Amino acid sequence: MKKVIVIGSGFSSLSAACYLAKYGFEVSIFEKNTTVGGRARQLVKQGFTFDIGPSWYWMPDIFEKFFADFNKKTSDYYQLEKLDPAYKIFFEDDVLTIGDTMDKICEEFERIEEGSSVHLRRFIRKAQENYDIAINKIVLKPGLSPLELVTKETILRVDQFFKSISQEVRKRFKNPKLISTLEFPVLFLGAKPSKTPSFYNFMNYADFGLGTWHPKGGMYEIIKAMEKLALELGVTIHTDSPVEKIEVENGKVKAIVAKGNRFEGDIVISGADYHHSETLLDKKYRQYSEEYWDNKTYAPSSLLFYVGFTKKLQRVEHHNLFFDTSFDLHSAEIYDHPKWPSEPLFYANFPSVSDTSMAPEGCETGFFLIPIAPGLEDTPQLRQQYFDIIMDRFELRTGQSVKNSILFKESFCVNDFVEQYNSYKGNAYGMANTLTQTAFLRPNLKSKKVENLYFTGQLTVPGPGVPPSLISGKLVSELTIKKNLHNESHI
Ligand SMILES: Cc1cc2nc3c(=O)[nH]c(=O)nc-3n(C[C@H](O)[C@H](O)[C@H](O)COP(=O)(O)OP(=O)(O)OC[C@H]3O[C@@H](n4cnc5c(N)ncnc54)[C@H](O)[C@@H]3O)c2cc1C
Repeated sequence: MKKVIVIGSGFSSLSAACYLAKYGFEVSIFEKNTTVGGRARQLVKQGFTFDIGPSWYWMPDIFEKFFADFNKKTSDYYQLEKLDPAYKIFFEDDVLTIGDTMDKICEEFERIEEGSSVHLRRFIRKAQENYDIAINKIVLKPGLSPLELVTKETILRVDQFFKSISQEVRKRFKNPKLISTLEFPVLFLGAKPSKTPSFYNFMNYADFGLGTWHPKGGMYEIIKAMEKLALELGVTIHTDSPVEKIEVENGKVKAIVAKGNRFEGDIVISGADYHHSETLLDKKYRQYSEEYWDNKTYAPSSLLFYVGFTKKLQRVEHHNLFFDTSFDLHSAEIYDHPKWPSEPLFYANFPSVSDTSMAPEGCETGFFLIPIAPGLEDTPQLRQQYFDIIMDRFELRTGQSVKNSILFKESFCVNDFVEQYNSYKGNAYGMANTLTQTAFLRPNLKSKKVENLYFTGQLTVPGPGVPPSLISGKLVSELTIKKNLHNESHI
């Protein structure tokens, strides 16, 4: 049976490895770090458990579909809880609570803007239709041809690809708080709402329609589940094994070199950041120039803090957004004139509010995230400066003092993304999903220059986020299977 080498052990790599092992390939994973999971690894310190990266469990259907492909259910591996409230948004003069049903959310919208619930229900109905089209018809295509986007349903909605989500939202809602609330979900796609096609309002259905979930023990439980599944399927996992080279012979992949050792394989799939993966090849085998990468729009990087609090915090939920400064100014400072934000918006996650397993008794596990432009200067002084800014704002908005209850804090920023994941410009979430960076316009799943070399993950198809990464692994495995089990031509 053919040998497959998978580089990296993030969601996309684990997904690809599981599918290929199921089809009988001999699969080995090579991961540079000492634990699997990539951007979704875990930090455990003094009894506090932190997810280092993703914390929002959205689109539960995609996770169920993934495990169902192996005749399993998520509940075979982890226990899910639907969060109520899903999250809270702190504005300068008010706090919005997003509940776990449309009725609760409509009630909250009415409190802010009379009559808005009627528009909201209509908006979410349309978003649900788009979700069905996106998830069942578009996202499962490998991005090989523009024709993949042409379906009966997309032709009827062609205008939605040329209007932005911002335009669509502002047409229906006037209150700036409701506008920010409805523009928030597309931030997961990595671009400004004014640059994201309104078709992507399917993210609003993911938010209000499908809800926000929590795997008991944290997001790392999903990684542990996938690692277990991979091992059950016979995948071999090498951690602490950075790949230094992909060797090519007669136009075909031949081997990789990891930590000075050479491993031969028939197929190589890299789930490491795409730009970095190409640097593992001799120049003539790379498909994209440095200029190509430099000109792309990346999803933001982040400044992150993992904080152990020695007390339970008041007036916070599991997920909390601090939109008490200008959304437009902060986005402009990420995308238009990259610089450290003048007045940062931030996100705070306290998983121990709903899951006691994540902090010692009477304590709170705190994760803070400030989105920033990729490639910014990153120094200990800047990190501390921004920590102080958000702690002051956090105390002000939640009406409590917390600074004197900090047991420890760890931080993670641009330099760590580069050093730990070989991330291009220290991006956190890969390449943004804008109109010109969608589907066939994204870096390819398969190499155009080297036979049996493939790429997966958040810089290729379909895009950033945990559910898309699971799908990316599936798509790349399907291309590999087609070519190698059904002997379809490569390029
Ligand atoms: C802070 C943060 C918050 C996020 N929040 C959410 C969220 O709430 N919900 C959500 O759905 N998504 C979220 N995301 C996005 C989501 O986590 C990612 O899209 C997803 O985890 C990417 O998976 P991946 O497989 O593409 O890449 P990665 O997870 O980056 O995996 C790539 C792997 O390749 C390894 N690697 C790199 N170079 C080499 C080499 N030379 N040799 C061997 N291995 C190598 C890396 O170490 C890494 O393990 C978040 C991301 C971040 C960073």
